[in-house]
Amino acid sequence: MRFILAFVLVFPFLINAQNQYPQDYFGNPLDIPLILSGTFAELRSNHFHSGLDIKTQQRVGLNVKAIADGYVSRIKISAYGYGKALYITHPNGYTSVYAHLQKFAPEIEAYVKKHQYKKESYEIEMFPGAETLPVKKGNLVAYSGNSGGSGGPHLHFEIRDNAQRPINPMLFGIDIADSTMPFVKSIYAYPLDENSFVNNSNKKQKLRLIPIESGDYVIKNVNAIGNIGFGIETNDRQNLAANSNGVYNIQTFVNGNKNFELDFKRFSFTETKHINQLIDYEHYVTKKERVQKLYKKNNPLSIFKSVINDGVIKIEDSTYLVYKIRVADFKNNETWVTLNLKGSKNNITTPIQTKTTPYFIKADQAVNLKEGKISVDFYQDTFYEDFYLDFEVNSDTLKLHEDVIAAKKNFNITYDISNYKEADKSKLYIARLLGYNKFSSYTYTQRRGNILTASTKTLGTFALATDTIKPTITPVNFKDGQWLSKYRYLKIKIDDEGSGVSNYRATINGKWILMERDNYKDKTITFDFNDGIVTDTKNILKIIVTDNVGNNSTFESLFYRK
Ligand SMILES: [Zn+2]
Repeated sequence: MRFILAFVLVFPFLINAQNQYPQDYFGNPLDIPLILSGTFAELRSNHFHSGLDIKTQQRVGLNVKAIADGYVSRIKISAYGYGKALYITHPNGYTSVYAHLQKFAPEIEAYVKKHQYKKESYEIEMFPGAETLPVKKGNLVAYSGNSGGSGGPHLHFEIRDNAQRPINPMLFGIDIADSTMPFVKSIYAYPLDENSFVNNSNKKQKLRLIPIESGDYVIKNVNAIGNIGFGIETNDRQNLAANSNGVYNIQTFVNGNKNFELDFKRFSFTETKHINQLIDYEHYVTKKERVQKLYKKNNPLSIFKSVINDGVIKIEDSTYLVYKIRVADFKNNETWVTLNLKGSKNNITTPIQTKTTPYFIKADQAVNLKEGKISVDFYQDTFYEDFYLDFEVNSDTLKLHEDVIAAKKNFNITYDISNYKEADKSKLYIARLLGYNKFSSYTYTQRRGNILTASTKTLGTFALATDTIKPTITPVNFKDGQWLSKYRYLKIKIDDEGSGVSNYRATINGKWILMERDNYKDKTITFDFNDGIVTDTKNILKIIVTDNVGNNSTFESLFYRK
């Protein structure tokens, strides 16, 4: 009887799992064995990783192939983000995505260039219909690269459902050898209110992890009282790569009962920003370590499963609890952390000091703060939690707390610049100061008359900055007046101090030419003579570069070609 019951419970689950994700439908996007430099949903800055990062042997130019029949349904090119990206929609409703590409397969490349020349823009986004660029499983569709926001050659590969939500591609049977247990780097305990303590402290505590022979860990002698949450810093390594990647699933248990689970199978792009509430954001900003909270407080993410009491542990005086954390990778290699918690009243008598300011922000209310010529607007639900905000204005400098609290919405900072000279107004922008008033970063600023507005999600210190310096334009592989008959490419470096390059426009003999800006970190733009634009012997190349406040530079050069 017991056997039958188990069978009945397990069998429908297996059928469901197989129905949900077809197993033999999709092939390999590369001709080489798949080794990952990034796993699905691993923690990145301001987002969960939406696919697999596949290593390409430190090279660009590897064949990228359609993983199944379908049609090219979207092409996007940008110097940022995904760089050159190709989307294929398959008849079963899924879409595969290939990003940071070097270039597309010839037929697709010709289609893209035609549109770039028509639109006179390197950055482009297109949605071809089902008849335009059909593909068969295994067709060459592109070459791997390092374009956009990529930090080294690799293929970023995704599978999305018909609502454009990315799903862990490994669920479709993509097999990555992994026999290594996840690694736990640190565990933190968080007293969650002023009546809660861990080891006699009301502040977060790093707990001492003791590795045991099995590869698991124990934590001994934790005294606590009240409402406690835990946080974990954990990674996983796969067999063929030395780098550490994200884990697949985390569960916690109190006295043997599951009370919390993080399940990284699928998420949506609208919720990915809530990663900043999942991690200990202040810890990340100050220490660059990502500690994931094992409790759910004020977090709308959909990846929480079986959460009891938000994952928060309530421990009373003179009670004992066994709290266990199970971390697993996709191959179900698992690592356990066992904590023995003892409920004991704290013996601290000094009251808890919370730093207060006159500006208590209630997360569910809109707030306007104004002083002098500066005004700040927080909309309703900009923050996850209520807090005391530091707000200080000193002429043109705005101290708006520190970047230790995550925001889920942009807020607006406005400066009234009517006291500036007319000629200077157009050169002003709002900058966020980094470090000790030394480095500033451009914050996208719009000007309407005497009002400058910057929109951002990052707290910190802001100031007005001036950019009067024009962009620089420097030829890389040629000189003025040269014969360039044997050249395949023209390469030029463009740069701007202050607000940064906003856009550029290049022509030869007055005709627009496509100059590719492959990766935003690389300041080189490149023209390919194979585009067939240059037919004359004597040619004038002209480039205009504009920065973010509108300063522009013009570069002109003569070259010959036969
Ligand atoms: Zn990636």
